[in-house]
Parts: sequence; structure tokens; C-alpha cells
Amino acid sequence: MNALVVDDDETSIIMVENVLNQMGYEVHVAHNGREALEVLREKSIHLVITDWEMPEMNGIELCHAIRRSDFSGYVYIIMITGRDGSRQRIEGLHAGADNFLTKPLNPAELLVCLKTAERILALETCELAIFALAKLAESRDSETGAHLERVQSYVRILAEHLSTREKFRGVVDDDYIRLIYQTSPLHDIGKVGIPDAILLKAGKLTEREFAVMKTHAQIGAQTLDAALRRFPNAKFLQMARSIAASHHEKFDGTGYPMGLSGENIPLCGRIVALADVYDALTSRRVYKPAMSHEQAKEIIVRDSGSHFDPEIVAAFLGHEGEFEAVRQRMADAESPASGADNGSAKPAIPASKADTNTVLIVEDDPSQRDMLVTLLTANKYEVIVAGDAETALEMVGNRRPRMIISDWSMPGINGTEFCRRVRALDQGEYIFFLIVTAHSEKRHMIEAFDAGVDDFVVKPFHQGELLARIRAGSRTLRLHDELNRRNDGAAKLNAQLLDLNGKLERLAVTDELTGLYNRRQALLRLEEKSMHADRYGDALSVAMLDIDHFKMINDTYGHDAGDEVLRQVAATMQASVRATDTVCRVGGEEFLIILPAQTAEEAANSAERCRAALAKLPCMVNGVQIAVTVSIGIGSRRVNHGSATALLKDADNALYSAKRAGRNCVRMSGGSGARVQVSYPHDVK
Ligand code: GH3
Ligand code: MG
Ligand code: MG
Ligand code: MG
Repeated sequence: MNALVVDDDETSIIMVENVLNQMGYEVHVAHNGREALEVLREKSIHLVITDWEMPEMNGIELCHAIRRSDFSGYVYIIMITGRDGSRQRIEGLHAGADNFLTKPLNPAELLVCLKTAERILALETCELAIFALAKLAESRDSETGAHLERVQSYVRILAEHLSTREKFRGVVDDDYIRLIYQTSPLHDIGKVGIPDAILLKAGKLTEREFAVMKTHAQIGAQTLDAALRRFPNAKFLQMARSIAASHHEKFDGTGYPMGLSGENIPLCGRIVALADVYDALTSRRVYKPAMSHEQAKEIIVRDSGSHFDPEIVAAFLGHEGEFEAVRQRMADAESPASGADNGSAKPAIPASKADTNTVLIVEDDPSQRDMLVTLLTANKYEVIVAGDAETALEMVGNRRPRMIISDWSMPGINGTEFCRRVRALDQGEYIFFLIVTAHSEKRHMIEAFDAGVDDFVVKPFHQGELLARIRAGSRTLRLHDELNRRNDGAAKLNAQLLDLNGKLERLAVTDELTGLYNRRQALLRLEEKSMHADRYGDALSVAMLDIDHFKMINDTYGHDAGDEVLRQVAATMQASVRATDTVCRVGGEEFLIILPAQTAEEAANSAERCRAALAKLPCMVNGVQIAVTVSIGIGSRRVNHGSATALLKDADNALYSAKRAGRNCVRMSGGSGARVQVSYPHDVK
């Protein structure tokens, strides 16, 4: 992980750097706020430790600048204050600092502070997950492209403007801006509850459909309410709920769902309303082309005071250029900024496999059959015919009708048995089965329904009644299909969420660069193996491995080449250990190999194999050979050795003596102190 130390005092920098290095951070240094901002713009850094007094730009100004900037992800700021810190702390908190340290620095205090920072930064992954959720909800509506990201940016532009206005002092501050930026993507989360037929409809919605569409505001609020009941103090959820509920309210009280007016509409709702509408107007939809900025502006100005809060329209007019810039930068591929439209509309609902218009008639009596065929063809149904159930079963397989009208009494397989067999086929699509019979007693009906029949017509029947029952059958089929599609959507959503969860889990246990277990996992695994060894009295060793003169590799070939070397070293190590050994990356260029059931000597041999493999194999980076050697220290479990930490300490000491002995070698640590195992001439790079 990257960290940035900002201080004009070299001794202070070195001290902080040491602690950070121990914790496996890659440390960047800046000597004042201005330099710090430059580094932050270039590198992905989420932890800043800054001094207060500095030339050019001091710590407080730096805090403000970071909080106003558009760095991806949260930046955790630790400020170093003078001895009498309480006043400074208050000022620092206002500026956006997260934590404080007092000079002279105490390394233990810094360590605790860093642990807190790591915990807080880890929380951000939750936020990412929430954004992913919003994206999933949006993904059902394929027309909206980068809508969420654009709305987020518009919302921030508006909120930032409001923060400069006297009227919003104390309301719209840096925290508010961050919060509204983070939560605005959830404004339409309630759309998950809107049926496809309405959400994806190509044309304008009918009044009734629109009424259903409008419920997305309440559905969203209710969904977030459920989360709020568990975390009532989560500001994030409070604002998200407020936005979901109120982003369709209008300033004059004619909006929905509550018909709130003026400043009774939460401010965040008024802000998102304008951002959401501007984006909708300037994006192409299936039913309309994209408008130009000028056209959209005209509408927004026209609706100032009726739809929109005039204060927010003023904010929009003051930052038009920025709106245009965001719109151009994040334009959807299919929505040209020019506003041109080719008018191609996509079908409202994906065509179903279901052919609800084809009816299979199964009837052994020719006159009855002819009568049915005439009736149905006259009513625009596609008709296929079978004289017995066996032929009909084949047709069900080949022609896939979605509706069957079958006689009950037939030679061979009768109607109810035929129905049972159709149900047993289970071809995926539901088939509506209507049986025609002279039997009208209750027990017959029960028998038929038990066999899986959907409906029942008694001979002689009224033609109008039969047609009405067929129409009801078609309705049932459409419902089945709609439900199936929704289930499909839910299953897809589930699969995507599972995938996302898996990714987050992998990130938590592995190191991103090498794919090896990270430091935390290394310690957990070691604890586990150590307990196992204690319990069964097994041997257990660890090898602590550090790349020699790695700084030189970085300095000579660049940081990216250094990264690639780390990857190749990791891969070579993985390949040269046993399947039961675990390789972990515990620091920048430090690795730990856990060697279960190996004595110190066995472990030293394994480590030596690994060392030799690395020394023999130069890393190839961009066509350049980079020689890499490593120093390795072995720690081995002794009876009553104590904790896994003691084992690591032994390995660390052994590694230290390997470095002192000239590097590129393996050293063992035993009860009697370190002793030389294998030694190689110092490698010259
Ligand atoms: P020694 O032989 O004493 O171990 O010398 P060294 O240069 O390897 O040791 P030192 O600890 O001084 O330097 C380690 C360097 O590794 C410093 C740091 O910039 C670099 N480093 C740490 N993590 C990464 C990383 O993820 N990628 C790259 N490219 N370099 C890293
Ligand atoms: Mg909406
Ligand atoms: Mg090193
Ligand atoms: Mg090192």
C-alpha cells in the first residue's frame, strides 16, 4: 500500500518512514502541501501523514485541498500537531483531518494510528459494494449507460457551488459534498421493483404504466429504510434514503410521491432532481434523441421555480461549462453529444421463445376436430392437429405449442394420462392444457386437475365460452413468461453479487501484485500451522526471504520493472516449494514461506533450492535481464517455543545475519544462535 509523508523536517520524515516501512507500506515523500498534491495526483495514495507548519502550503490548506479534490477513493489524513494540540485539533477536524499525532512523535502511537486508518479505509470497500449494487439495479435498464457516474459529477458541481453561498453555510460543507456524491447513485435503486414490461418499454408509457413506474421512489425509500433499521445512525443511508424518496418531487408541489413543495423537499433531493433531469435530457433514449446542452438549459430555466429550485438552477447556470465538460467526457457511445439520433428503437421486451399463438388440438372424432379447427383458425390461432395422444406427444416435442386442447376419451392414451406425460416432459416453457369432456362430475374434475390440467370444458360446449377460456390461457402463459424472465434477472443479479463478493474476499486475503497471501493471511496461516504443530508435536519451520538490493533494481530499471521482478520472484518461489508449503508476501520485497512438518535442516534445504532457482533465473523485464538474488533466514519451532511470533523473530534474526554475511545465502537460527548453513560469494549486480 502507498503512503505519503508530508513534512519539511528530514528527521521527522525518516522516523515516520521507518514505521511505515515496517508495516509494509511504500512510502512517498513531499516537503510541503503543494508537492503533496502533485504526488497525490500521480499516484494512487489513500494515506497521508502531514505536518502542520510547512512552507508554501501548510497542513490545513492541504487538508482542504484534498477534501475538495477528485481523487478516486477516500484519502485518510493524519495530522501532526504541536504540543498544545487541542485548538489545532478542532481546526484540523474542520479542515477534514481524520486523526492527530503530537510532536515529538511516538512510534507506538503512530502504529496505532495507522491501524485505525487501515480499518477505516477497509470500510470503503463496503461503499464500493453499494455502488456496485446501484450499478446492478441500473444494469436492468440498458439504455442509461454512464448515467450514474454523470449524475454523481453534476451533483458534486452543484453542491460545491452551494457550499460557497452564505445561505447554505453550515449545511453544505465538505462532508455533505462527499456524502451526496457517494449516495446519489442510489437514487433509482427502487427500479429493481419495476416490471420489465414497463421499465424496458420502447414507447411512451400509458397513464397506468407511468403510475407503476412512479412507485420506484417509494420502493427505493423502503429498501433503504430496511437497511436504516439496522444502522439507524449511518449518515450514508440517511442521505441515500432521502434522495431515493425525494428526487422526483417538484418545487411547486406537483411532483411525486409526496407532493412536497419548496424547501420541504430535502436539499439533496432538489440537487439530484436537476442533475438527473439534465442527464436524461442530454442522453438518447429509445423514445427520444439526445438534446443539446442549449436545449436542455432552456427547459431547466423555463422550469425554474416550478420543477426546480431556483437556487439550484442558479448554481447550474454558474457552472454550465463544467456540466458540458462532464457530459462530453462521460458521453455514452450510443448517445452522441451532438444530439444526433438515428431513431432506431429496440423491441420493448425481448421476444419470448413462447409461441402463445400455436394451439395443438388432440381429438379422435373427425367432426369434432373439424369444428375446433374452423373455430380457432377463424379467430387467428395457428392450429396443429393430432388424432391420438401418441402422435400429439411427438408434436409437443417438435412443434413446441404453448397450448393444448385435448379430448378426454380417446383410444390408447386418454386425455388425463396424456396431460401427465406432457407435464413430465418439462421442456422449460409452460404449456396451458385444456381438456374437453363429456364427464362433468366433481370426481372427474378432481382427477383431471390432479393430472395437471389447467382448465376444463364440458361437451357440448358453447363456442364463445371455449374462446374465452383460451384467451384466459394466453394470459396465464404471458404471466408465466414474465415471471420466468424476472427470475432469470434475479438469478443473474445473484450471480453477479456472488462474483463481486468473491472478488472482495480474494482482495482481502491476497496481495494484488503477486496473488500470494498477504501479510495478515500469512500470520493467520502461521498461527494455524503453529497450533497444529503444538498439538501433534510436529516440526514446523518458516523461511523469511528478502530480495537483495531491491531498491537498486527500482532505481535502475524503474518502479514498474521492480513490480514485474516481484511478480516473477513470487512465481519462481511458488514453483520451487512443496505443495504443502505456503508462500506469502509480507512486505514490499519480503516474503514468508511456511514449511509445515520440516525441521530446520529440511527447511534450509528447501530454502536453498529456492535461493538457487532464483539466482539461476534472471528476471526478463521488457527484454532486459535483471539479476535477482535473495537472502533467507530460517526459523524453526522448538519445544515450548511459544508463539508463532517468536518463530518469526528467529527467522528475522537469521535473515539479518544472512544480509550481514554478504547476502544471497541462507542462514538458520537455532537454540544455540545463528549458524552458517550455506554461503555464497556476494553477488555483484
Ligand atoms: P537489502 O538487500 O538490504 O534488502 O536492500 P534493499 O534495497 O532490498 O532494501 P530496502 O528495504 O532498503 O528497499 C526495499 C525497496 O523495495 C524499497 C521500496 O521502494 C521497494 N518496494 C517496496 N514495495 C515495492 C513494490 O511493491 N514494488 C516495487 N517496485 N518496489 C517496492
Ligand atoms: Mg428516478
Ligand atoms: Mg531487500
Ligand atoms: Mg527490506
